[in-house]
This record gives sequence, structure tokens and C-alpha cells, in this order.
Amino acid sequence: MIEQFVKAGQDLASEGLIHSTAGNMSIRKGDVIYVTRHGARIGSLKFNDIVRVNLLDDRKDAQADASVEVKVHRSIYNSAPEISAIIHAHPVYSIVLSLDSEKIECIDCEGQFYLPQVPVLFQCAETIGSECVESNLPALMSSHKIVVVRGHGVFSCGKTFDEAFGYISVLESASKIIYLKRMLTPRG
Ligand SMILES: [Zn+2]
Repeated sequence: MIEQFVKAGQDLASEGLIHSTAGNMSIRKGDVIYVTRHGARIGSLKFNDIVRVNLLDDRKDAQADASVEVKVHRSIYNSAPEISAIIHAHPVYSIVLSLDSEKIECIDCEGQFYLPQVPVLFQCAETIGSECVESNLPALMSSHKIVVVRGHGVFSCGKTFDEAFGYISVLESASKIIYLKRMLTPRG
């Protein structure tokens, strides 16, 4: 299992979708979540960077080492049994577009095919380890594979890390295209 974490972390780093110790990832197996440790460098994960917590609520001390976003991961898993992998990353162009939009509408062929419309969770004032995100994200993720939390980053889900990574990669590429198109379009 560690190999899956290492590969996904390297994939994210190689495409510039994370930086330093930002971002986190998890896998669900039965009643257990394996999640990256708080402060782990996602691009160069080691065995002891993976923390095991319960799918249902843990005592605070049991999850003290886990990512601050573990409650958000848990809320998504508990609302969607088909999801078994989650990646949270900070793709820059997707974040920029989230600042003044309530959804990202892809304009390139690949984006339109895989992710025609990506919702932005914009209601939350606090977005890091946030109860507001924990409460509101599962509803959006029930109908979309990836959601952008305004000004913060994306949560992407799938059956595997490869699937979740793919959505982030496609969205960030599509977001760059939207951004560059705006730069080229003369303003009236
Ligand atoms: Zn984050």
C-alpha cells in the first residue's frame, strides 16, 4: 500500500500540484482510513508518513498525527461507500479561478469530456481543517468527482489514487487554459 502513496505523491509533485508539506491523501480499507501524517512531504513519502485511523470517529489522541484534513476525508467516506481514495491538493490555477467563480466550466476538449463543470465550495470562511468544509463537501462530492474549496485547494475522489490524481491533473490543465484564454481576450 505504501507504494500507492509514494507513486501518487510523486505524480502530484511532478506536475506541480502540491508544494512543500501542503496536501494530503488517504485510502479507505473496510473500517480503517490510512491517511498521510500532518506535515509530511507528499512528494517524498516514507512508511512512517502514513497514519491509521478509524473510519468512524477516533479519540483525539489516536489521530493526533494525522493530517488536519482527516475529518473532511472521513466525512466524504462516510457519505459515499463507493469512494476508496481521496487526494487533497493545492493546484494553483484551479485555486485562482475559484476566487471569483461558483463553478469552473472547462472550455478545452479534454476538460469538457472528463469534467465539464466543477463546483466551487465558496460558503466557508475558514477552510483548513474546517467544520464548514466537513459539513458541506460531501453533498457536492456525491455528484462530482472533484470539488474546489475557494482559495484553498481541491478534494478529488475515486476508487484509486490514479483516478483521483487524474481528475486533479485534468482540472488544473483546463484551469490554465481558461486563465490563459482570459489573458488573451481583450477587455471591453
Ligand atoms: Zn489544503
